[in-house]
Amino acid sequence: MEKVRVEEVESRAGPADVKRPLTTALGATDLAVNYFELAPGDSFAFGYHAHSDQEEVFYVQSGTVTFETEEGQVEVSSGELVRFAPGEYQRGVNEAENDSRAVALALGAPQESGDLDLRRECSDCGDRTSNTVQRADEGAGLVTICEECGAETGRFE
Ligand SMILES: [Zn+2]
Repeated sequence: MEKVRVEEVESRAGPADVKRPLTTALGATDLAVNYFELAPGDSFAFGYHAHSDQEEVFYVQSGTVTFETEEGQVEVSSGELVRFAPGEYQRGVNEAENDSRAVALALGAPQESGDLDLRRECSDCGDRTSNTVQRADEGAGLVTICEECGAETGRFE
């Protein structure tokens, strides 16, 4: 048994204001667990994406998260859950127009998600293209890079 207090796990840089990776802290072997707090405009993910081998479940504890899905926009509010199958594209964003934060728990299984296809708008290509996530050359942040033209499409501290 492992018991963990969310606040004891350090937050990671990325597209969410707070992302606490709980998988290792819990010693989970087959399941990925992440705690998120999204400020308005924040997202769980670096872009619209699918994991080839992993299903994902999001439980929204407070606030509202708007998911872009293959079936259109879906709002998931406090007390609701949403599940995406392996290979299904999605991205959840806190689109609150006031300053409401969203708090959510994300569960993924199996832990190894397989191939990630991450799509972001590239202004150089004028299209949504496949991207990779890399460490920024300077500072502690991360950058997303268009695989087609090499342009930086986003920067995350
Ligand atoms: Zn590009």
